[in-house]
Amino acid sequence: MFDTILTGVNLPDGRTGMDVGLQGGRIVAIERSLPAEAGEAIDGTGRLLSPAFCDPHFHMDATLSLGLPRMNLSGTLLEGIALWGELRPTLAREALVERALRYCDLAVSQGVLFIRSHVDTSDPRLVTAEALIEVRDLVRPYLDLQLVAFPQDGYFRAPEGVRSLERALDMGLDVVGGIPHFERTMEDGRASVEALCRLAAERGLPVDIHCDETDDPLSRHVETLAAETVRHGLQGRVAGSHLTSMHSMDNYYVSKLIPLMAEARMNVIANPLINIMLQGRHDTYPKRRGLTRVRELMAAGINVALGQDCCMDPWYSMGSADMLEVAHMAVHVAQMGGIEDKARLFDAITVNSAGAMGLEGYGLAVGCKADLVLLQAADVPEAIRQKPTRLLVLRNGKVISRTAPRLPQLSLPGRPPEIDPGRDFRPVHQG
Ligand SMILES: [Zn+2]
Repeated sequence: MFDTILTGVNLPDGRTGMDVGLQGGRIVAIERSLPAEAGEAIDGTGRLLSPAFCDPHFHMDATLSLGLPRMNLSGTLLEGIALWGELRPTLAREALVERALRYCDLAVSQGVLFIRSHVDTSDPRLVTAEALIEVRDLVRPYLDLQLVAFPQDGYFRAPEGVRSLERALDMGLDVVGGIPHFERTMEDGRASVEALCRLAAERGLPVDIHCDETDDPLSRHVETLAAETVRHGLQGRVAGSHLTSMHSMDNYYVSKLIPLMAEARMNVIANPLINIMLQGRHDTYPKRRGLTRVRELMAAGINVALGQDCCMDPWYSMGSADMLEVAHMAVHVAQMGGIEDKARLFDAITVNSAGAMGLEGYGLAVGCKADLVLLQAADVPEAIRQKPTRLLVLRNGKVISRTAPRLPQLSLPGRPPEIDPGRDFRPVHQG
Protein backbone atom coordinates (compact mmCIF):
# COMPACT_ATOMS: atom_id res chain seq x y z
CA MET A 1 0.00 0.00 0.00
CA PHE A 2 1.46 3.32 -1.10
CA ASP A 3 0.38 6.88 -0.42
CA THR A 4 0.82 7.64 -4.13
CA ILE A 5 1.80 5.75 -7.27
CA LEU A 6 2.96 7.42 -10.47
CA THR A 7 2.33 4.95 -13.28
CA GLY A 8 4.03 4.44 -16.62
CA VAL A 9 6.64 7.15 -16.25
CA ASN A 10 9.98 7.43 -18.04
CA LEU A 11 13.12 8.07 -15.99
CA PRO A 12 16.22 10.18 -16.73
CA ASP A 13 18.36 7.02 -16.92
CA GLY A 14 16.36 5.87 -19.95
CA ARG A 15 14.01 3.36 -18.32
CA THR A 16 10.46 3.69 -19.67
CA GLY A 17 7.03 2.63 -18.47
CA MET A 18 7.98 2.48 -14.79
CA ASP A 19 5.72 2.72 -11.75
CA VAL A 20 7.05 4.72 -8.82
CA GLY A 21 5.55 4.16 -5.37
CA LEU A 22 5.74 6.86 -2.71
CA GLN A 23 5.18 6.46 1.00
CA GLY A 24 5.93 8.66 3.97
CA GLY A 25 7.50 11.30 1.74
CA ARG A 26 10.00 8.88 0.20
CA ILE A 27 10.34 6.78 -2.92
CA VAL A 28 9.77 3.21 -1.74
CA ALA A 29 9.47 1.28 -5.01
CA ILE A 30 10.44 1.66 -8.67
CA GLU A 31 9.22 -1.27 -10.76
CA ARG A 32 7.70 -1.96 -14.10
CA SER A 33 4.36 -2.91 -12.61
CA LEU A 34 3.33 -2.13 -9.06
CA PRO A 35 0.04 -3.27 -7.52
CA ALA A 36 -2.18 -0.22 -7.82
CA GLU A 37 -3.06 0.00 -4.17
CA ALA A 38 -2.48 3.58 -3.33
CA GLY A 39 -4.23 6.56 -1.85
CA GLU A 40 -3.71 8.31 -5.15
CA ALA A 41 -2.71 6.94 -8.55
CA ILE A 42 -1.28 9.44 -11.02
CA ASP A 43 -1.14 8.43 -14.67
CA GLY A 44 2.24 9.57 -15.96
CA THR A 45 2.32 7.36 -19.03
CA GLY A 46 5.13 8.39 -21.36
CA ARG A 47 6.07 11.44 -19.28
CA LEU A 48 9.53 12.06 -17.82
CA LEU A 49 9.76 11.93 -14.03
CA SER A 50 12.83 13.68 -12.64
CA PRO A 51 14.15 14.57 -9.24
CA ALA A 52 13.13 18.18 -8.60
CA PHE A 53 15.55 20.66 -10.13
CA CYS A 54 18.30 22.08 -8.03
CA ASP A 55 19.72 25.59 -8.55
CA PRO A 56 23.11 25.86 -6.84
CA HIS A 57 23.80 29.52 -7.67
CA PHE A 58 21.32 32.36 -7.32
CA HIS A 59 20.98 35.90 -5.91
CA MET A 60 17.64 36.06 -4.16
CA ASP A 61 18.28 39.42 -2.51
CA ALA A 62 18.49 41.06 -5.93
CA THR A 63 15.87 39.15 -7.86
CA LEU A 64 12.90 40.99 -9.40
CA SER A 65 14.57 44.35 -8.80
CA LEU A 66 15.09 45.05 -12.50
CA GLY A 67 15.01 48.78 -13.27
CA LEU A 68 15.65 49.86 -9.67
CA PRO A 69 16.98 52.51 -9.58
CA ARG A 70 17.80 52.33 -13.32
CA MET A 71 18.82 49.86 -16.02
CA ASN A 72 22.35 48.51 -16.60
CA LEU A 73 23.30 50.34 -19.80
CA SER A 74 26.71 48.81 -20.49
CA GLY A 75 25.51 45.32 -19.62
CA THR A 76 28.72 44.61 -17.73
CA LEU A 77 29.27 42.84 -14.43
CA LEU A 78 30.95 45.98 -13.08
CA GLU A 79 28.04 48.32 -13.90
CA GLY A 80 25.73 45.73 -12.35
CA ILE A 81 27.75 45.81 -9.13
CA ALA A 82 27.71 49.63 -9.15
CA LEU A 83 23.96 49.68 -9.78
CA TRP A 84 23.33 47.21 -6.96
CA GLY A 85 25.46 49.49 -4.77
CA GLU A 86 23.06 52.36 -5.53
CA LEU A 87 20.01 50.24 -4.77
CA ARG A 88 21.31 48.54 -1.62
CA PRO A 89 21.02 51.44 0.87
CA THR A 90 17.33 51.74 0.01
CA LEU A 91 16.50 48.05 0.55
CA ALA A 92 13.83 47.32 3.13
CA ARG A 93 13.33 43.95 4.71
CA GLU A 94 9.64 43.64 3.80
CA ALA A 95 10.27 44.28 0.12
CA LEU A 96 13.19 41.83 0.06
CA VAL A 97 11.03 39.15 1.65
CA GLU A 98 8.14 39.78 -0.72
CA ARG A 99 10.32 39.65 -3.84
CA ALA A 100 12.08 36.49 -2.66
CA LEU A 101 8.82 34.71 -1.83
CA ARG A 102 7.41 35.66 -5.20
CA TYR A 103 10.49 34.22 -6.89
CA CYS A 104 10.16 31.01 -4.86
CA ASP A 105 6.54 30.66 -6.03
CA LEU A 106 7.78 30.78 -9.60
CA ALA A 107 10.67 28.41 -8.87
CA VAL A 108 8.34 25.81 -7.33
CA SER A 109 6.03 26.03 -10.35
CA GLN A 110 9.10 25.33 -12.52
CA GLY A 111 10.01 22.27 -10.45
CA VAL A 112 12.92 23.90 -8.57
CA LEU A 113 12.83 22.83 -4.92
CA PHE A 114 16.48 23.45 -3.93
CA ILE A 115 18.23 26.81 -4.24
CA ARG A 116 21.57 28.07 -2.98
CA SER A 117 21.43 31.86 -2.87
CA HIS A 118 24.29 34.22 -2.29
CA VAL A 119 23.34 37.03 0.12
CA ASP A 120 25.23 40.30 -0.07
CA THR A 121 26.82 41.07 3.30
CA SER A 122 28.52 44.33 2.23
CA ASP A 123 26.01 46.67 3.88
CA PRO A 124 26.64 46.45 7.64
CA ARG A 125 22.88 46.80 8.25
CA LEU A 126 22.69 43.19 6.99
CA VAL A 127 19.03 43.70 6.12
CA THR A 128 19.60 41.27 3.23
CA ALA A 129 20.71 38.50 5.60
CA GLU A 130 17.80 39.19 7.99
CA ALA A 131 15.28 39.06 5.15
CA LEU A 132 16.66 35.92 3.52
CA ILE A 133 16.87 34.05 6.85
CA GLU A 134 13.17 34.87 7.30
CA VAL A 135 12.48 33.60 3.78
CA ARG A 136 14.50 30.42 4.41
CA ASP A 137 12.21 29.65 7.36
CA LEU A 138 9.01 30.54 5.50
CA VAL A 139 9.74 28.37 2.46
CA ARG A 140 11.22 25.40 4.34
CA PRO A 141 8.03 23.28 4.02
CA TYR A 142 8.30 23.41 0.24
CA LEU A 143 11.78 24.58 -0.78
CA ASP A 144 15.28 24.11 0.65
CA LEU A 145 17.12 27.42 0.62
CA GLN A 146 20.85 27.56 1.42
CA LEU A 147 22.36 30.97 2.08
CA VAL A 148 25.91 32.03 1.25
CA ALA A 149 27.50 35.00 3.05
CA PHE A 150 28.68 36.89 -0.01
CA PRO A 151 30.88 40.02 0.27
CA GLN A 152 29.75 41.58 -3.02
CA ASP A 153 31.90 44.72 -2.61
CA GLY A 154 34.97 42.71 -1.61
CA TYR A 155 35.90 40.96 1.63
CA PHE A 156 38.84 43.33 2.11
CA ARG A 157 37.75 46.10 -0.28
CA ALA A 158 34.46 47.00 1.43
CA PRO A 159 34.95 49.14 4.54
CA GLU A 160 33.46 46.61 6.95
CA GLY A 161 33.63 43.58 4.68
CA VAL A 162 35.41 41.20 7.04
CA ARG A 163 33.33 42.05 10.09
CA SER A 164 29.99 42.05 8.21
CA LEU A 165 30.60 38.63 6.69
CA GLU A 166 31.42 37.14 10.09
CA ARG A 167 28.32 38.74 11.65
CA ALA A 168 26.19 37.28 8.85
CA LEU A 169 27.60 33.82 9.58
CA ASP A 170 26.84 34.39 13.27
CA MET A 171 23.23 35.16 12.27
CA GLY A 172 23.02 31.71 10.69
CA LEU A 173 24.02 31.87 7.04
CA ASP A 174 25.10 28.46 5.80
CA VAL A 175 28.08 28.90 3.49
CA VAL A 176 31.20 31.12 3.25
CA GLY A 177 31.36 33.16 0.02
CA GLY A 178 33.90 35.46 -1.59
CA ILE A 179 34.79 37.50 -4.67
CA PRO A 180 38.59 37.55 -5.06
CA HIS A 181 38.60 39.06 -8.57
CA PHE A 182 36.85 42.17 -7.18
CA GLU A 183 39.38 42.83 -4.42
CA ARG A 184 41.75 45.75 -5.08
CA THR A 185 44.73 43.68 -6.17
CA MET A 186 45.50 40.16 -7.27
CA GLU A 187 47.38 39.78 -3.97
CA ASP A 188 44.33 40.90 -1.96
CA GLY A 189 42.26 38.42 -3.95
CA ARG A 190 44.62 35.60 -3.06
CA ALA A 191 44.64 36.68 0.59
CA SER A 192 40.83 36.74 0.64
CA VAL A 193 40.62 33.15 -0.63
CA GLU A 194 43.12 32.06 2.01
CA ALA A 195 41.25 33.87 4.80
CA LEU A 196 37.82 32.65 3.72
CA CYS A 197 38.91 29.01 3.49
CA ARG A 198 40.49 29.26 6.94
CA LEU A 199 37.28 30.81 8.29
CA ALA A 200 35.20 28.01 6.76
CA ALA A 201 37.47 25.34 8.22
CA GLU A 202 37.27 26.94 11.68
CA ARG A 203 33.48 27.12 11.53
CA GLY A 204 32.94 23.77 9.82
CA LEU A 205 31.12 25.40 6.88
CA PRO A 206 31.22 24.80 3.13
CA VAL A 207 32.73 27.38 0.77
CA ASP A 208 31.27 28.82 -2.43
CA ILE A 209 33.39 31.55 -4.01
CA HIS A 210 32.53 33.75 -6.98
CA CYS A 211 35.90 33.00 -8.51
CA ASP A 212 37.56 34.56 -11.54
CA GLU A 213 34.32 35.91 -13.02
CA THR A 214 36.32 37.80 -15.61
CA ASP A 215 37.81 37.41 -19.09
CA ASP A 216 41.30 37.99 -17.70
CA PRO A 217 43.37 34.87 -18.54
CA LEU A 218 45.64 35.74 -15.60
CA SER A 219 42.82 35.77 -13.05
CA ARG A 220 43.85 32.53 -11.35
CA HIS A 221 42.25 32.55 -7.92
CA VAL A 222 40.82 29.13 -8.72
CA GLU A 223 44.35 27.78 -8.28
CA THR A 224 44.56 29.29 -4.80
CA LEU A 225 41.07 27.99 -4.01
CA ALA A 226 42.10 24.44 -4.95
CA ALA A 227 45.31 24.65 -2.91
CA GLU A 228 43.57 26.11 0.17
CA THR A 229 40.86 23.45 -0.07
CA VAL A 230 43.49 20.74 0.26
CA ARG A 231 45.44 22.64 2.93
CA HIS A 232 42.36 22.88 5.17
CA GLY A 233 40.98 19.43 4.43
CA LEU A 234 37.86 20.88 2.79
CA GLN A 235 37.85 18.43 -0.14
CA GLY A 236 34.38 18.03 -1.64
CA ARG A 237 32.94 20.96 0.36
CA VAL A 238 34.19 23.82 -1.81
CA ALA A 239 32.58 25.25 -4.92
CA GLY A 240 34.19 27.53 -7.47
CA SER A 241 31.37 29.54 -9.03
CA HIS A 242 31.67 30.97 -12.55
CA LEU A 243 35.42 30.36 -13.25
CA THR A 244 34.90 32.25 -16.51
CA SER A 245 38.57 33.22 -16.78
CA MET A 246 39.26 29.53 -17.51
CA HIS A 247 37.66 30.17 -20.90
CA SER A 248 40.52 32.57 -21.74
CA MET A 249 43.41 30.81 -19.99
CA ASP A 250 46.41 29.35 -21.73
CA ASN A 251 45.81 25.69 -22.54
CA TYR A 252 49.09 24.51 -21.01
CA TYR A 253 48.25 26.21 -17.73
CA VAL A 254 44.78 24.64 -17.72
CA SER A 255 46.34 21.20 -18.21
CA LYS A 256 48.02 21.68 -14.84
CA LEU A 257 45.09 23.41 -13.17
CA ILE A 258 42.33 20.87 -13.82
CA PRO A 259 44.13 18.02 -12.00
CA LEU A 260 44.63 20.35 -9.01
CA MET A 261 40.88 21.04 -8.99
CA ALA A 262 40.19 17.29 -9.22
CA GLU A 263 42.56 16.62 -6.33
CA ALA A 264 40.63 19.17 -4.25
CA ARG A 265 37.34 17.52 -5.34
CA MET A 266 36.21 21.05 -6.14
CA ASN A 267 32.63 21.53 -7.28
CA VAL A 268 32.34 23.80 -10.30
CA ILE A 269 29.21 25.90 -10.78
CA ALA A 270 28.87 27.49 -14.21
CA ASN A 271 26.09 29.95 -14.97
CA PRO A 272 25.66 29.87 -18.76
CA LEU A 273 22.83 32.42 -19.05
CA ILE A 274 24.76 35.07 -17.18
CA ASN A 275 28.22 34.11 -18.46
CA ILE A 276 27.21 34.44 -22.10
CA MET A 277 25.51 37.76 -21.29
CA LEU A 278 28.23 39.41 -19.18
CA GLN A 279 31.53 38.02 -20.43
CA GLY A 280 33.36 39.21 -23.52
CA ARG A 281 31.98 42.73 -23.03
CA HIS A 282 35.37 44.33 -23.48
CA ASP A 283 35.98 42.40 -26.69
CA THR A 284 35.13 43.84 -30.07
CA TYR A 285 35.40 40.87 -32.43
CA PRO A 286 36.00 38.03 -32.05
CA LYS A 287 33.92 38.07 -28.84
CA ARG A 288 34.62 35.43 -26.20
CA ARG A 289 31.80 33.36 -24.75
CA GLY A 290 33.27 33.28 -21.26
CA LEU A 291 31.73 30.00 -20.12
CA THR A 292 34.17 27.86 -18.17
CA ARG A 293 35.44 24.61 -19.69
CA VAL A 294 32.42 22.47 -18.89
CA ARG A 295 33.21 19.52 -21.13
CA GLU A 296 36.88 19.29 -20.11
CA LEU A 297 36.09 19.62 -16.39
CA MET A 298 33.47 16.89 -16.62
CA ALA A 299 35.90 14.66 -18.53
CA ALA A 300 38.36 15.06 -15.63
CA GLY A 301 35.74 13.70 -13.24
CA ILE A 302 35.02 17.05 -11.61
CA ASN A 303 31.47 17.64 -10.38
CA VAL A 304 30.11 20.38 -12.67
CA ALA A 305 26.77 21.97 -11.83
CA LEU A 306 24.81 24.71 -13.56
CA GLY A 307 23.10 27.65 -11.87
CA GLN A 308 20.48 30.24 -12.80
CA ASP A 309 22.45 33.07 -11.08
CA CYS A 310 20.07 35.94 -11.84
CA CYS A 311 16.46 36.69 -12.69
CA MET A 312 15.45 40.26 -13.52
CA ASP A 313 18.10 42.09 -11.52
CA PRO A 314 20.93 44.60 -12.15
CA TRP A 315 22.96 41.95 -14.00
CA TYR A 316 20.35 40.18 -16.09
CA SER A 317 17.01 41.41 -17.40
CA MET A 318 15.85 37.91 -18.31
CA GLY A 319 15.36 34.70 -16.32
CA SER A 320 12.37 32.51 -15.50
CA ALA A 321 13.51 30.16 -12.71
CA ASP A 322 13.76 27.47 -15.36
CA MET A 323 16.72 25.14 -14.92
CA LEU A 324 15.93 23.56 -18.29
CA GLU A 325 16.52 26.97 -19.85
CA VAL A 326 19.91 26.98 -18.11
CA ALA A 327 20.77 23.55 -19.53
CA HIS A 328 19.44 24.62 -22.92
CA MET A 329 21.83 27.57 -22.98
CA ALA A 330 24.69 25.32 -21.85
CA VAL A 331 24.05 23.02 -24.82
CA HIS A 332 24.73 25.98 -27.09
CA VAL A 333 27.51 27.83 -25.30
CA ALA A 334 29.47 24.70 -24.33
CA GLN A 335 28.66 23.19 -27.73
CA MET A 336 27.35 20.01 -26.13
CA GLY A 337 24.55 18.92 -28.45
CA GLY A 338 24.97 15.13 -28.45
CA ILE A 339 22.61 12.74 -26.67
CA GLU A 340 25.30 11.89 -24.09
CA ASP A 341 26.16 15.57 -23.70
CA LYS A 342 22.54 16.39 -22.89
CA ALA A 343 22.41 13.60 -20.32
CA ARG A 344 25.44 15.13 -18.60
CA LEU A 345 23.94 18.63 -18.69
CA PHE A 346 20.68 17.28 -17.22
CA ASP A 347 22.80 15.79 -14.41
CA ALA A 348 24.30 19.28 -13.99
CA ILE A 349 20.88 20.74 -13.04
CA THR A 350 19.90 17.75 -10.89
CA VAL A 351 22.31 15.30 -9.24
CA ASN A 352 25.49 17.33 -9.77
CA SER A 353 23.83 20.44 -8.33
CA ALA A 354 22.58 18.42 -5.38
CA GLY A 355 26.15 17.17 -4.87
CA ALA A 356 27.54 20.70 -4.98
CA MET A 357 24.97 21.74 -2.36
CA GLY A 358 25.67 18.69 -0.21
CA LEU A 359 22.02 17.58 -0.25
CA GLU A 360 21.15 14.24 1.32
CA GLY A 361 18.44 11.86 0.14
CA TYR A 362 18.29 13.50 -3.29
CA GLY A 363 17.62 11.49 -6.43
CA LEU A 364 15.39 9.03 -8.17
CA ALA A 365 16.07 5.78 -6.36
CA VAL A 366 14.37 3.77 -3.65
CA GLY A 367 14.95 5.54 -0.33
CA CYS A 368 15.30 9.03 -1.82
CA LYS A 369 13.01 11.87 -0.78
CA ALA A 370 9.94 12.15 -2.98
CA ASP A 371 10.79 15.65 -4.26
CA LEU A 372 9.92 15.20 -7.90
CA VAL A 373 8.80 16.88 -11.10
CA LEU A 374 6.74 15.32 -13.88
CA LEU A 375 7.40 16.87 -17.29
CA GLN A 376 5.39 17.04 -20.50
CA ALA A 377 8.28 15.39 -22.32
CA ALA A 378 9.27 11.80 -22.87
CA ASP A 379 12.99 11.91 -22.16
CA VAL A 380 15.96 14.05 -21.19
CA PRO A 381 16.94 15.37 -24.65
CA GLU A 382 13.33 16.43 -25.27
CA ALA A 383 13.10 18.03 -21.83
CA ILE A 384 16.14 20.20 -22.56
CA ARG A 385 15.05 20.96 -26.11
CA GLN A 386 11.45 21.89 -25.34
CA LYS A 387 11.62 23.22 -21.76
CA PRO A 388 8.21 21.60 -21.37
CA THR A 389 5.34 22.20 -18.98
CA ARG A 390 5.95 21.01 -15.42
CA LEU A 391 2.76 18.96 -15.08
CA LEU A 392 3.24 18.12 -11.40
CA VAL A 393 5.71 19.10 -8.73
CA LEU A 394 5.83 16.95 -5.60
CA ARG A 395 7.39 17.77 -2.25
CA ASN A 396 7.64 14.96 0.30
CA GLY A 397 5.34 12.98 -1.98
CA LYS A 398 2.58 15.62 -2.04
CA VAL A 399 1.61 17.59 -5.13
CA ILE A 400 2.41 21.26 -4.51
CA SER A 401 2.13 22.59 -8.06
CA ARG A 402 0.05 21.44 -10.97
CA THR A 403 -0.03 22.80 -14.54
CA ALA A 404 -2.29 21.59 -17.34
CA PRO A 405 -0.43 20.12 -20.32
CA ARG A 406 0.09 22.44 -23.26
CA LEU A 407 -2.07 20.97 -26.03
CA PRO A 408 -2.40 23.45 -28.92
CA GLN A 409 -5.71 23.17 -30.78
CA LEU A 410 -5.22 23.44 -34.54
CA SER A 411 -7.59 24.38 -37.32
CA LEU A 412 -5.64 23.17 -40.36
CA PRO A 413 -7.02 21.37 -43.41
CA GLY A 414 -6.24 17.65 -43.24
CA ARG A 415 -4.16 17.94 -40.06
CA PRO A 416 -4.88 16.69 -36.51
CA PRO A 417 -7.08 18.95 -34.37
CA GLU A 418 -4.68 18.79 -31.41
CA ILE A 419 -0.97 18.19 -30.89
CA ASP A 420 0.93 17.17 -27.78
CA PRO A 421 4.46 18.60 -28.07
CA GLY A 422 5.57 16.12 -25.40
CA ARG A 423 4.56 13.08 -27.45
CA ASP A 424 4.34 13.96 -31.14
CA PHE A 425 7.71 15.47 -31.94
CA ARG A 426 10.37 13.00 -30.81
CA PRO A 427 12.94 12.04 -33.38
CA VAL A 428 12.64 8.49 -34.67
CA HIS A 429 16.10 7.44 -33.53
CA GLN A 430 16.01 8.23 -29.84
CA GLY A 431 18.49 6.56 -27.50
ZN1 LIG B 1 26.55 35.01 -8.70
